[in-house]
This record gives sequence, C-alpha cells and structure tokens, in this order.
Amino acid sequence: MPSITPSTELQYIKGVGPGRAELLRNAGVANVRDLLYFFPFRYEDRRHPARIADLGRSIDMPVLLRGRVTSVASRVSPVKRMRLFEAILDDGTGSVKLIWFNQAYLGDQIQRGDRLAVYGAPRAGSYRSLTIESPDWEKFEGNEEEEGAIVPIYSKVGNIPPKALRKIVTGAIDAALPQLADPLPDELRKKLGVIDLQTAIRALHQPSELTPDFLSSRSPAHARVVMQDFFTLQLALRVRRASEETNTKSRRIEIDDALREEVKRILPFRLTTAQKRVLKEIADDLRSSRPMYRLLQGDVGSGKTIVALIAAILMIRNGHQVALLAPTEILVEQHYQRIRQLLDHSIVVARATGSMSAGERRTLTAGLRDGYIQLAVGTHALLEDRIQFQSLGLAIVDEQHRFGVEQRQKLFAKGEMPDILVMTATPIPRSLALAVYGDLELSVIDELPPGRQRIKTAVREASEVERVYDFIDKEIDDGAQIYIVYPIIEESEKSNLKPLTHGFEQMQKRFPNRRVAMMHGRMKSDEKEETMQRFKGGEIDILVATTVIEVGIDVPNASLMLIVDADRFGLSQLHQLRGRVGRGERKSYCVLLHEAKIASDAKDRIMAFERARDGFEVAEQDLQARGPGEFLGTRQSGAMKFRMGHILRDYAYMEKARDLAIETVDAGLPRAEEIARALLGVEVPAATERD
Ligand code: ADP
Ligand code: MG
Repeated sequence: MPSITPSTELQYIKGVGPGRAELLRNAGVANVRDLLYFFPFRYEDRRHPARIADLGRSIDMPVLLRGRVTSVASRVSPVKRMRLFEAILDDGTGSVKLIWFNQAYLGDQIQRGDRLAVYGAPRAGSYRSLTIESPDWEKFEGNEEEEGAIVPIYSKVGNIPPKALRKIVTGAIDAALPQLADPLPDELRKKLGVIDLQTAIRALHQPSELTPDFLSSRSPAHARVVMQDFFTLQLALRVRRASEETNTKSRRIEIDDALREEVKRILPFRLTTAQKRVLKEIADDLRSSRPMYRLLQGDVGSGKTIVALIAAILMIRNGHQVALLAPTEILVEQHYQRIRQLLDHSIVVARATGSMSAGERRTLTAGLRDGYIQLAVGTHALLEDRIQFQSLGLAIVDEQHRFGVEQRQKLFAKGEMPDILVMTATPIPRSLALAVYGDLELSVIDELPPGRQRIKTAVREASEVERVYDFIDKEIDDGAQIYIVYPIIEESEKSNLKPLTHGFEQMQKRFPNRRVAMMHGRMKSDEKEETMQRFKGGEIDILVATTVIEVGIDVPNASLMLIVDADRFGLSQLHQLRGRVGRGERKSYCVLLHEAKIASDAKDRIMAFERARDGFEVAEQDLQARGPGEFLGTRQSGAMKFRMGHILRDYAYMEKARDLAIETVDAGLPRAEEIARALLGVEVPAATERD
C-alpha cells in the first residue's frame, strides 16, 4: 500500500473498497484531501446520555438516550394508512416508544435485544408514556468505545453505515492530516486572524468540547474554513480581473463641450441626482485606460436605460460601436423604439434577434463588420460567433443578473477589450453582490424619478375577484390601462396556454366594452411586437399575458397589475411584474390573487412581498428563502459552493476577505497568483446537506 497523502485516492484508505470509493466520489469526495474537508454537519455529545426517568413529560427538546430494545412491532396506521415501525427502548430507568413512518425496512435492521443510541425529541404519548417520532438511531453491537465521546455526524453517503463512515474519516485524519500543507502563508493567516489549517480540521472532526461558539459555527476552527473559502473566491476574482487589466485599452474617449451639448439636447427629462452620479462614474471608466467592468444596479423604474444610452452616445461619437444585449425580443424592440425616438436618425441602429431572416442577418453581420452600424440592440443572438464588430467599444447587458463569466468572455472577445456595463433590476443584496461580483465596480441608482408614488399592493383571495374587476373598470374609465398576468412558464416544452386563453376569454366576457388583448411567448415576434405597440399606444385597455411582460416593459400609463395565482411566482418575478406599473405619474396598484387553499409558506411569502418596500428588501427575502445558488440561477453557481460559509451570516468575513484579496494582488500579481492556485488546489465541493 502506498503511503497515504492528501492526494491519495480513496480506495487506498482502510475500509474503502471500489464500491465505497464510487459512492464517495458521487458525493463529491474523490481523495483523502476531500475527505479531510468532509465536515460533520452536527455533533452528538454521547458522554452524557439522558436518563429516561428524568425526562418528565412532553419536553420537545432533542435528547440523547441509550438503552435496549425490549420489543418491536410493524403496523399500518388506521388513519393515514402509513406503515409504522415501532420499538420500545428501555434504559433501566424507564422506557420510551420510538416510531418511524414508512420505513418498513427498519424491521430488518432493529431487533429485540439490540442496544441503541437514539437522538430525538420526546413527546407525551397516551397513558403517560413518552414517544419519539423518527429519531436518529444507531446500534451499539457491544462496542462501547464511542459511548463516552463527542460523535461527529456526517451527511449520508450512499448506504455506507454512519459508523463505518466515521472510521473512514478518522483513518484519513490519522494518516494524512499531518502532511496537509496550509495554503495560507503565515503572514496572510495573521492578517485574516485565523488559526492554522491542521488544527482547524482536526477540531471540526474531533472537537474536545461543544462550546456555544462551536455549536453556532463561530469557533476559530469554523472561522478558519469560512475565511479560506471566502478569501479563495475573492482572490480568484481579483487575480482574474488583474490579469485582464494588464493590457490597457488603445481607444481614447474624449468628452468635449459639443458632445455634452448633444447629450443635453437629447435628454427628454432632467436626470436625477443618482443618475448623474452614476453617469459620471461610467464616463470616468470609459475615459480610463483600463476596461470597465461595472454593475449598474437600480430598482425597477429607476431609469437605468437612459444612463446606458448616454454612455452609448459617448462611445459612438468617439468612433466606436456599441452592443446592447437584452434578454427578450420584446425588450429589444422596446429599446430599439426608444433609441429611435431619442436619437432620430443621427445614429445607425440595428436589431439582432433569433427570428431575423437570412437577409436581415447578412445585412447585420456586414454592417457590424464594416462599422456602418453603430449600435446593435439584440438578444443573445449578438453573442453568436459570426457576429463580428469593426470596433466594439462598449457592451451593455440589460436586465440580466444571470449574466455569466462565459458570456462576458464572449463579449470581451468581440472587441479590443470593450468596456462592459451590466444592468440589473433585480437588485442583488450587497452581501451577495460582494460574493459573486467581487471583481465588479458597483454603481447604484438609489433614487426614483420625481413624481413616482409607492405602488399599493394588496393580496386578495380568488373569491373576492369581482371587486377587483369593479376597480379595474373604474381605472379604465379614468383612462388607465391594466395588465393581467397568468403563471405560464414559457420555456417549458409542454407549456399549456389553456389557463391563459381561458382567462382571456373570461376577461372578454367580463369586460365586453373594453379592448382586451392577449400576449404570450409562443406568438410570432411581429405579433408580439404589434400587440405591445398597440398597448403602448393606448389602443388596448387590458393586456392578458404571461410573464413575457415580466422584464423591462415600460408603459407609463398602465396603473394596475393583477397577478393570478400569485403564489406560483418567485419573489423576484413578482417584483419585476409589479415594476411594470407605477412608471408614470398615475397612482398604481398591484393585486396578488390566490386561491383560498394555498400552502402556508406560500401565503407567508406573498404577504411578505406585500409589505416589502423596494427591490432590495425583496431580494434579501428571496435570498433568505431560496439560498444563494437558486437566487442566482445558473450564474457562477460553482463559485457559490462554500463549505461552511454563509453569505448573509458571514458578511463581515466576506468584506475582510475582499480587502485582503485586493491588498494581496496590489502587492504583486505573480505571488497572488501562486497563492490563488494553492488555495484552489484544495477546492472541495460542498460536503454537507446543511442549510
Ligand atoms: P429601469 O431602470 O427599470 O430600466 P427605465 O430606464 O425603463 O427603468 O425607466 C423607467 C421610466 O422612467 C421610463 O419611462 C423612463 O423614460 C422614465 N425616466 C427615467 N429617468 C427619468 C427621469 N430622470 N425623470 C423622469 N422620468 C424618467
Ligand atoms: Mg430597464
């Protein structure tokens, strides 16, 4: 057997054969190092089991008990027809009844006479007895060695018995931990204020005491691992950024008085203070010798578009092209129309979407290659390989917080280090922005254009819908327009538009004198476009739609958003939908309709949304509810897999990690790269199922 080191593969470890090695690999544990980082998700203090006689009644707090099984029984519950497995556990001072549901196989595993350690919360059963439902359990087959210890509990790996798994980990620690190199040099450890890696890892697997700090993941050992993860992420982001920046841009952007005058002339309104500030930050970036990589964050309706368009003009007047990327064809169209309105014919603008004809595509590619087209507005069609620019100076990505590193690289490759501006209307909580966009500069529009009022949001049961309809009638009498949205997932293959068409017909009946139209993603793009134009032009009173209108649509005259089955939308979707109204001076409303019987957490969610004041609150809620991975969708999900760090709870750590990452890179890129590589070498997937 070769000597065991951190990179030894698992089958060389005692207790691991090819079968178990495979199971561990599937759980993301490929070698000994991974195993060292495979931390328990909880601990049991088995030094002091409780006495059953001392439990009292109905205590509801989990306790550890140890005893012998005096009888077992399998039966089917009369009420819910579930299969029950029951066992009586006696510890010499008293007995409790253990019950498991739908785990018939336990009959083979737990037998009369077995010694068990169980962990669970006792409840008062009938006839003064105590019952524990679905306790964690473990056998003691006459082996008492673990009885006096603090026992680490690892998440399940296939069918490897917990005790065997513990032995495997302990074996790895004994054999390989002393050879595990610390990727954080002394001086960095000092600056981060963390202990050394070996001590931390040992403490996490084999704590000598379960102090409150330790149990709340706040011990020095925890801090060490969290910090290492965060610092790794921040350093990697900064190193990448720094290597991108080593080359300077060759274009020189000048903003003279004539250009300033032109911009002023174009502006249809006065910019808010926040818009001006952000615009200045962007203009400074454009003029700087390093490529811009900036996230423009602002709530829905805060006026990001105009800022981006001004940036585009600055770039175009300096002789370079601009690409504006939007997530949907409708948005592309809207941007296109707005740009035409604003700029007249002084700039050559073209659209790029998936539904272009071959001829249109040829004109587009030719026009972009020879520089005739100055501004291209498009969907992801703009990222296709055949699209080449003569001189792409600025790429703007609208409404897309799922914009990933890959797309960024594609865009980057289309120009000579183009400046990149990413705009997001689903505000990313600061905590998360720091984690995933650690290398972006952040600009925030934290002010709405004047005259905006808070959108009145109400939650209503479906049975009350008639009153909502009456209100809709009044609003239309008043000259306003209405959105009604149904929860249809457009991307789904099997998408069934029936609820929508049904709703549409219902609305036509309920509002016979109103102009009702329908819109969904399956319509041809010119149909969609035409419907949208008619709605914008005030020729439609009620637009019955799917979430195709979710993002970016701007019709200031719309005053009411009715969301049917609101509980079926995600929080940020609700926020986007609500953001379709309240975009002008009209007092606006958002009504969240739901059936009487919905899950209580769904109800809580929409009630919380009703109260949330702005996108930041919504985003924090969303993040809490779904966790960072989900919240960010597909974007950089890999970067979010921290072993134990929690972005919200450990925010202060993340800031510290970022600051030190910047300092490290500033002190010298080669050394920073070396450290980053060492840190990434210990990359391990999230090991536990916690959180
Ligand atoms: P978002 O930030 O959601 O993309 P938009 O850029 O679509 O918002 O702007 C929302 C609406 O507010 C648009 O109708 C836009 O013309 C208008 N708007 C933007 N800035 C101002 C401003 N400074 N004053 C008045 N209206 C503005
Ligand atoms: Mg927008």
